[in-house]
Amino acid sequence: LIKRFKSGKNYVEVLKGVNFDARHGDLTMVMGPSGSGKSTLIAALSGLLKPEAGRVDALDVDDMWKLSSGRLDKFRLDHCGFIFQGFNLFPSLSALQQVTTVLKFQGLTPDQARKRATLALEEVGLGHRLHQRPAALSGGEKQRVAIARALAKDPQILFADEPTSALDGENGQVVIKLLRRAATEHGAAVICVTHDPRLEAWADRVIHIEDGVIIDDQRRIPNPEAVLASH
Ligand code: ATP
Ligand code: MG
Repeated sequence: LIKRFKSGKNYVEVLKGVNFDARHGDLTMVMGPSGSGKSTLIAALSGLLKPEAGRVDALDVDDMWKLSSGRLDKFRLDHCGFIFQGFNLFPSLSALQQVTTVLKFQGLTPDQARKRATLALEEVGLGHRLHQRPAALSGGEKQRVAIARALAKDPQILFADEPTSALDGENGQVVIKLLRRAATEHGAAVICVTHDPRLEAWADRVIHIEDGVIIDDQRRIPNPEAVLASH
């Protein structure tokens, strides 16, 4: 993938030929310093920001960027979940409504959506907070709502951009365990970018990116204690 941004009269190349494959069942961690291109990479991989060159093959699609915008939107809705640093919740909706809204978009009936959303929120430990709006939730709870929303549709690909950086250590642990479970139990390809070194222990694969290039790409065995603790 190659991605450039205009900067004054010039172009700055932010992704300079990044190439990797993420597998289902893996928690793939992309780490690197601020400004190295991590968020740009997630955006290019997830259909948010069109790269200047390169391709993204995902599931049965050869080059996602060749899809019409309607089909790209549908692909993302059907198969991809997103978790961001700032949670991206709708301020006026309850925890339950945050999740049901997405499921109804996917074609579930209100009743099916409510049942599925309730289960997803129970799974992240928020069964008792279903009717709270974001303003009444802690940061850790908000991020868990965002995760429930992303996981409720059982996505085959899960993108997370700095999912723990607004959280303290304990809440960060809860969130990374949920990402680990999405990979191990749901078989999702989880791609998580972060500069939090504490998350590395949970990954099956750690890719280091610097200045728009991959400088290191290692498979590793996730810390078994970390994996056990996720169950
Ligand atoms: P951080 O860890 O701080 O989130 P990052 O690794 O996610 O950093 P990116 O957000 O991908 O970094 O940005 C990489 C580079 O691209 C930065 O120098 C940034 O200023 C630049 N950049 C990102 N988005 C744009 C844009 N829309 N227009 C111009 N430059 C951009
Ligand atoms: Mg970023």
